[in-house]
Amino acid sequence: MSVRAGREFLAIPGPTTVPDEVLRAMHRPAVDIYSGPLLALTDGLLRDVARVFNTKGRAYIYIANGHGAWEATLTNVLSKGDKILVLESGRFAIGWGDNARRMGVDVEVLKGDMRRAVRPAEVEARLKADKGGTIKAVLVAQVDTASGVVNDIAAIGQAMRAAGHDALLMVDAVASLGCMPFEMDRWGVDVAMSGSQKGMMTPPGLGFVVANDRARDVHKTAGLRTPYWDWTEREGDLHYQKYAGTPPEHLLFGLRQALDMLFEEGLDNVFRRHRLLAEAVRRAVGVWAEGQAIGFNIIEPSERSDAITAVLLNGGHDPEALRAYCNQKCGVILGHGIGDLSGRAIRIAHMGHVNAPMTLGTLSVIEVGLNALGIPHGKGGAQAAIDWLGEQVKA
Ligand SMILES: *Cc1c(COP(=O)(O)O)cnc(C)c1O
Repeated sequence: MSVRAGREFLAIPGPTTVPDEVLRAMHRPAVDIYSGPLLALTDGLLRDVARVFNTKGRAYIYIANGHGAWEATLTNVLSKGDKILVLESGRFAIGWGDNARRMGVDVEVLKGDMRRAVRPAEVEARLKADKGGTIKAVLVAQVDTASGVVNDIAAIGQAMRAAGHDALLMVDAVASLGCMPFEMDRWGVDVAMSGSQKGMMTPPGLGFVVANDRARDVHKTAGLRTPYWDWTEREGDLHYQKYAGTPPEHLLFGLRQALDMLFEEGLDNVFRRHRLLAEAVRRAVGVWAEGQAIGFNIIEPSERSDAITAVLLNGGHDPEALRAYCNQKCGVILGHGIGDLSGRAIRIAHMGHVNAPMTLGTLSVIEVGLNALGIPHGKGGAQAAIDWLGEQVKA
């Protein structure tokens, strides 16, 4: 027996639920790539992508996933043998750094761990010790999707300035753009990147990169530049150059619709919605944790992200059995643990096109699964989420 017919809830941290409006916007014939509305569409998208990052810097849209956008950032500002500092707080900055290493970059990891945010004071101390200024760039993820942590990018930028170090600050915002504020210019971020398929509510396939003047200056002498990723090429006047070839037309139509939806809701409201739903998830997990078998991966409450929550299953209880139950019996697809959390955690995404029924439904189904599988937990997690939203969202 199952109760899974009906709409499936995708609660994985990317790709996320694509709004019907976005799907419909993509359902149309191809158009000319050399003239007409597509040119204006590109101009508007580049402007609005920069707007979501809050930068006066330049935006680039690639046909790529996040890994491609990573490569775009690295090739445009680094040279073989350059040294960079990667700030560990999960998996993703490490993965970005691994790619740099494979391109001939000298990568140092500022050791962190899977259960906490980057400590800005440690960044400051490391950079102060770099007397010769050999570190060219610092890489960090705003939200690490494996650990569920949120890093304080403003404080990290501040720490770099306090150290008097002029390395570029490069930020991965794949799991946070469109879910929480990103203040590129105010925080002193030089290069940032993201993708279409998480908070941006568009199918996978677009990578976003933004760069300020300082980064574009460094770019002029970067040795790792390649034709496809190259910013200078993409700054050319011809529309064709902006995508280094045929534009991904249908993804662009979808992205336009998604951005319109974000702006219509208002970015502040979008972020507030994420915060409320994230806290609803945390309320539920907090109650379940009373049974000792379940806990937050991120220890410090203020370091838990508003986009994704990683939940540990202790005492030999199998997270894959819980995921299978939720999927096969109830039609809710949860994220699995990755990296060090593989086989030890579930991940609940609350990013992008999410609302109260989706979040409350997901939490309720998890609770059904905990009961059905006999996993010890405090009773009333979903109720705590309901109470929280009822208090916060006034009539
Ligand atoms: C998903 C994700 C990526 C990788 O994106 P892909 O599109 O899968 O290549 C990179 N960084 C973070 C923080 C992510 O969440």
